[in-house]
Amino acid sequence: MNFILFGPPGAGKGTQAKFIVDTYSIPQISTGDILRDAVKSKSPLGVKAKEIMNSGALVSDEVVLAIVEERLAKSDCDNGFVLDGFPRTLPQAEALKALLGKNSKKINCVISLDIADEVIVKRLSGRRTCSVCGAGYHLLADPPKTDGVCNKCSGTLVQRDDDCEATIRKRLQVYHEQTSPLKEYYENGGFLFHVDGTSSIQEIQTTIQSIVKSTNV
Ligand code: AMP
Repeated sequence: MNFILFGPPGAGKGTQAKFIVDTYSIPQISTGDILRDAVKSKSPLGVKAKEIMNSGALVSDEVVLAIVEERLAKSDCDNGFVLDGFPRTLPQAEALKALLGKNSKKINCVISLDIADEVIVKRLSGRRTCSVCGAGYHLLADPPKTDGVCNKCSGTLVQRDDDCEATIRKRLQVYHEQTSPLKEYYENGGFLFHVDGTSSIQEIQTTIQSIVKSTNV
């Protein structure tokens, strides 16, 4: 099963991708995570991407496509994968289709997590991540026991550079201008499923499971 998790930043794509990974034993491919790792390691790609990411803009299609092509070529993607945060532009979607087509593959299911901008701003500005183990928290919905400290490993909690309000609003603008037109693109293919992104994590998981069943792949 080849999935795309689609939706604005902060819709919960990463959370649901992890559920799909555990349930269907397929890898998550998050272009945002790959780019953040590159920034952390100060690789040439990371140096190029850092400023663009911090501004809330999109990294070039060429760079992102090279990342995805290399990742999809790995053997752990043979039985399926879940794309999280990719594609984000029409050229990326077209290139993905061509790339998969070369290997007689296709996307089976696009899950769109629908959620309003103001909910996202609240969600993302409260998001914190452990700098050591990567565990996620939210200052209002899921606060750590001690301020700024991870419950699991006592690591320091940090805020993503692009989770400040001004950058969140810029990312949302970019989403509406460049990414949300992809909904129509996939709707025309007949395999786009809308899910209410404000439902509980568990409810969304249950909905995803019934969608997968209904696709019969
Ligand atoms: P994310 O974690 O998916 O919200 O991605 C964080 C940032 O990485 C985005 O705001 C972009 O700057 C960059 N990025 C991630 N995925 C893509 C993509 N498919 N195309 C272009 N830029 C991307």
